[in-house]
Amino acid sequence: SVRAGIIVTGTEVLSGIIRDANGPWLSEALRARGVVVTHIVVVGDRVEDLRSALDFLSDHDLVLTSGGLGPTADDLTADVVAEWAGAEMVHDAALEERIWAVVNRLRRRMPFEEEAMRAGARKQAFVPVGAAVLEPVGTAPGLLVSSSGPLVAVLPGPPRELQTMWEAAVSTSPLREVLESAGTLEQRILRFFPLPEPQIAATLRELDADALPLEITTCLRRGELEVATVFPPSSASAYAALEAGLRERHGDVLFSDDGATIDVVIARLLQGRTIATAESCTGGLMAGRLTDLAGSSAYVLGGLVVYSNEAKTALAGVPDALIAAHGAVSPEVATALSAGARSRLEADIGIGITGIAGPGGGSPEKPVGTVCISVSTATDAEERVVRLPGGRADVRDRTTTVTLHMLRA
Ligand code: ATP
Ligand code: MG
Repeated sequence: SVRAGIIVTGTEVLSGIIRDANGPWLSEALRARGVVVTHIVVVGDRVEDLRSALDFLSDHDLVLTSGGLGPTADDLTADVVAEWAGAEMVHDAALEERIWAVVNRLRRRMPFEEEAMRAGARKQAFVPVGAAVLEPVGTAPGLLVSSSGPLVAVLPGPPRELQTMWEAAVSTSPLREVLESAGTLEQRILRFFPLPEPQIAATLRELDADALPLEITTCLRRGELEVATVFPPSSASAYAALEAGLRERHGDVLFSDDGATIDVVIARLLQGRTIATAESCTGGLMAGRLTDLAGSSAYVLGGLVVYSNEAKTALAGVPDALIAAHGAVSPEVATALSAGARSRLEADIGIGITGIAGPGGGSPEKPVGTVCISVSTATDAEERVVRLPGGRADVRDRTTTVTLHMLRA
């Protein structure tokens, strides 16, 4: 198999100022091409640290770097990789002119010193002898540098630039040949809700999953359990047996086997129907989540954000007396909210949400995390009272997940 490591450079990433978008993206892109990714290493803008990361991955077939290709002094990736691979840096005059043309265009919008910009373009036009140059997307060229060990693909830091350049890099020699020598890897994702992690762990032990020629990853995300399995085509029958075992034990809570998230599953179900929301503790997050997907205008009519009792009455038509009798956080009020959303917006399906997101406002009977959710149609209504774990953000986010799963029923 072809093994690759990824080195993400940048003190801003290492220190946590910027969240790494490139490591995960490249990892996914490599896996889709059958490459086994062993590590994502993050290093600051320090020569020694970048060198030791390269040493660390020297027995790999492929190393990808991101960042440090700009015109400034802390942009040192190309120099360090060249030195590590034992290649001199040489000036490419034609490349400098192409970079300069781009910089000059940018200069019209930003009043930079011509001298400094010219020097920057000149710096970026130094490339290791023998390297394949990847045409700049911004101003920085990428590089494919061969060494006695791995092929090193040097890519820019800005994610949009990196992603665009990657598409060109995959068909450029010698990266193309390395990728062609990788086999294919299949990936299947099964999603379950609700299913506790210890339960799936026990099932996998029972199925003796460790002994199978499969790479199985289980992960709890937004309250849903995801089982992702990566395998070469030769292990297809082992995977089929695993999937059959999982279906047999947990088929009732399996909601996706084709990569679709719950959002996509619900979007498919809602085709041809309309939906509206009346939300208290989620403050519009449910309507926001329903409209995350393009095309949601086909079924989302709108939503009411009714945080105060007055708003619940004025906008969603919840009777004062109902709130006084049961409290704003009650299944009765949730039901009235979903009915109100439905009638005020003339929707087929109404969602009502009211709860205590915290950190304050809990009581012994209704602790923080108590949320009442109602999903109703003209003929049918389902209420659920749940106790969600975590802080305010978790409770609000989990509420939207639970509600989407109620729509599935
Ligand atoms: P430039 O010519 O823009 O300097 P560069 O290749 O030198 O390109 P960096 O200086 O490392 O790239 O990063 C430039 C900017 O790109 C960073 O400030 C950051 O906003 C973004 N960026 C870099 N690396 C990452 C990353 N791993 N994840 C997300 N954003 C990143
Ligand atoms: Mg830079």
